[in-house]
Amino acid sequence: MSIAERYKEIENRKNEAAKRCGRDPKEITLMAVTKTHTAAEINEAIDAGATDIGENRVQELLEKYDSVKTVRWHLIGHLQTNKVKNIIDKVVMIHSVDSLHLAEEINKRAAAAGIRMDILIEINSAMEATKSGIAAEELEKLVKVITTGLKNVRVCGIMCIPPMALEPEDARPYFKEAAELFAEMKTWDLPEENFAPTVLSMGMSGDFEVAVEEGSTIVRVGSSIFGPRNYR
Ligand SMILES: *Cc1c(COP(=O)(O)O)cnc(C)c1O
Repeated sequence: MSIAERYKEIENRKNEAAKRCGRDPKEITLMAVTKTHTAAEINEAIDAGATDIGENRVQELLEKYDSVKTVRWHLIGHLQTNKVKNIIDKVVMIHSVDSLHLAEEINKRAAAAGIRMDILIEINSAMEATKSGIAAEELEKLVKVITTGLKNVRVCGIMCIPPMALEPEDARPYFKEAAELFAEMKTWDLPEENFAPTVLSMGMSGDFEVAVEEGSTIVRVGSSIFGPRNYR
């Protein structure tokens, strides 16, 4: 199957999963995750309908940026503060904010660029040492400090990456937990210009249908669209 065919198949599965649980398929964005894949491959997905793409590494995003057709870029991997300046005018959302320090740097660079950057807070549901993300208990405090102190960022929700699993169902408890946190977040009374909790970024190739059932609004799918990755 071509990338275009696989993209359409995943989009269809995403839409069917939404309908099965009574959700409007349009509520859920299919993001194509493009790490290790070429600009030409990414353009194939865009031609097939991809509107949003996710890159993990700043350097890789910059290498491809000019060769990829117009699309909404998301940064979904761990972001070092010294690289924020390189992508601040290129991405529409940063999914992987896991410290006040990083949020402050994004705020500073967004202010310099004259924009307000949309961010998600990454939750480390299982508290795995190898993964970034904050503990669920730290979420409220961090979001309050960011939304009341940093004028040039807007907290739009949560991203979660459950532990690697063999079965899609294994991810469900983590998705449920993230969805509960997200629902709680929506009740917080924080400045509207800096707080718009509308995005729950969860679900990957192996488990995106479960994520849709649990309330995801952006699924991040890589290998099911582009095939296996060869890391350089
Ligand atoms: C690589 C990656 C994905 C996509 O993973 P697949 O299993 O290939 O679909 C999603 N989210 C993040 C943060 C990733 O790093």
